[in-house]
Amino acid sequence: MKREIRFLVDAMLGNIVTWLRILGYDSIYWNGDDESLMNIASREKRIILTKDRLLYSLARKYGLEAVFVEDSRVEITLSKLSREYGISLEFDPHETRCPACNSLLKMKESEGGNEWTCINCGKHYWMGSHWKNISKIFEEAKKIGGEA
Ligand SMILES: [Zn+2]
Repeated sequence: MKREIRFLVDAMLGNIVTWLRILGYDSIYWNGDDESLMNIASREKRIILTKDRLLYSLARKYGLEAVFVEDSRVEITLSKLSREYGISLEFDPHETRCPACNSLLKMKESEGGNEWTCINCGKHYWMGSHWKNISKIFEEAKKIGGEA
């Protein structure tokens, strides 16, 4: 797996998790207390994403990787992560994760385009009409990255 960066997202930023999973990054969110969040990040070597300035400084103080997300719009956050951690904003059909449970997806090529099945929860995905909106976000994130 080339997408080895892992994230731990504070519950206030929950929806970014879905996007990171689609891009193939192992991402979980957490809505418990700060101390357990930092323990998990440290144990699993995850980068903390948070909107909470206090948690951010605390995490940095303990030597953990953390990103303070001021503007939580998805395209802004993704472009920031691309700049700071080099995450790929290119969708890779062979390295994508289940938006629902974070597990790896198994791809099957079919006539109508690729299809994926989650090896953990069994959910089924395909590139439907919503795909246009998804790839638009990645395109916008790339544009922002280029301007910054
Ligand atoms: Zn799943």
